[in-house]
Amino acid sequence: MKIAIGGIATENCTFSVFNTTLDDFRIIRQDDTQFKELYPFLTNNYNDIEFIGTITAKAMPGGSVEPSAYEFIKNDLLKHLRDNGPFDGVYLDMHGAMNVADRDDAEGDWMVAIREVVGDDCLISASYDLHGNVSDRIMQTLDIITGFRTAPHIDYMETRERAMSLLVRCLCEGIRPKKAFVKIPVGLPGEKTSTEWEPGMSIYNEIVPQIDGDKVMDATIQVGYVWADEPRMTACAIALGQDEEAIKQTVTHLSEKYWEHRADFEFGVPAMSVDECIQHAVQDNVKPVLISDSGDNPTAGGVGDVTYFLSRALVLQPDDMIYASIPDAEAVQKCVDAGIDNQVSLSIGGKWDTRNSEPLDVSGIVEFIKHDDENAQVVLKSDEIRIILTTKRTPFHYRQQFLDLNLVPEDHHIVVVKIGYLVPELKAMAENAYLALSPGAVNQDIVKLPYERIPRPCFPFDPDMSWTPQVSIY
Ligand SMILES: [Zn+2]
Repeated sequence: MKIAIGGIATENCTFSVFNTTLDDFRIIRQDDTQFKELYPFLTNNYNDIEFIGTITAKAMPGGSVEPSAYEFIKNDLLKHLRDNGPFDGVYLDMHGAMNVADRDDAEGDWMVAIREVVGDDCLISASYDLHGNVSDRIMQTLDIITGFRTAPHIDYMETRERAMSLLVRCLCEGIRPKKAFVKIPVGLPGEKTSTEWEPGMSIYNEIVPQIDGDKVMDATIQVGYVWADEPRMTACAIALGQDEEAIKQTVTHLSEKYWEHRADFEFGVPAMSVDECIQHAVQDNVKPVLISDSGDNPTAGGVGDVTYFLSRALVLQPDDMIYASIPDAEAVQKCVDAGIDNQVSLSIGGKWDTRNSEPLDVSGIVEFIKHDDENAQVVLKSDEIRIILTTKRTPFHYRQQFLDLNLVPEDHHIVVVKIGYLVPELKAMAENAYLALSPGAVNQDIVKLPYERIPRPCFPFDPDMSWTPQVSIY
């Protein structure tokens, strides 16, 4: 049996001005040692199957993908499929919220192109991030689709493995599962729909009891990705199985649960304006207090160089703050040129996301330099604020990233990170946390964003709408 592996995974904010280019993708092929790290479950379980790695491309969230980059990766994948086929199955490692500039439903295009090459007899299975947007075309074209059941996504590897094991099982047993799909007209930010608190936790706990392995082989709830102004933006429920009535009941049940709780989703920590966050944090008698500068979160598609939060911090002068981070290669170079312990005056950030930001004048002492050919980083100390400047867009998700800059987060009163909900390592570190409703491409105040193309009515844009589930069977 022969199974191809490929995929493209990125999350693209259509409100961002920062396009995702070919250089932003990390491309992994089968001969790459990283391929085994991506799919460690392959080595143990599937002795009789030949896996052919094609191309797996992953990019950090950002603005829309440039069409030429998308076409390059797609054509590369299709060539691999043509050259190495025929295949019994294809496994696709996807995210689901890719947007390619000037076209809709990029993953739908991707799936259809693959189907045309591998033919109708080949089974295609995909794993999705639960923040992916799913279209009818995707449901029609795929045989198997399964999504994460946790946010933060601690189950990413088991989801990939589930997509593969479902594929192998269907191939071995000659099953082509039926698929049930309900679009739920709700668009909510991930920061409110985490599965670590209610109602997300209870809703996602409804999934596993629905699965009996035969009538219902798998089920998925997609929150979707709300910062994509395109017609497929929506939450949805999906079920796969061999019994049409059973999968219908599953998606109806799951979508009704989601709908019922649509107004109950809230941020997991107190959310307030930037000024209020700083004022609260200053008064907190614990350290560190973590603050999410959420509107410019690069891991949700924010550009990352919005300076608003920092500009307010410089005015309000908190007693002890680390600010992570502003990408600005030129500013980093100036600090490197000045050297440690020397004073610099810089104009930082605000150069990419000109819609939401402007460069900010700061002066301070260069406290630390992390030399790195690709992504040099510096700590600039301006009064009691330590500003981390990076060469590239850099999310700070791990304690070690601070330690690498000679900063021990627990020794500082306030640590600001451009993120939404705190990832597990930051959450474990935080003695208290706030979410700042700051400006940026992934502004949490979604009803104020200039949507033109999402399907309406949709909650919370049309709060008084009524709805009952419409099940599509494929
Ligand atoms: Zn996600």
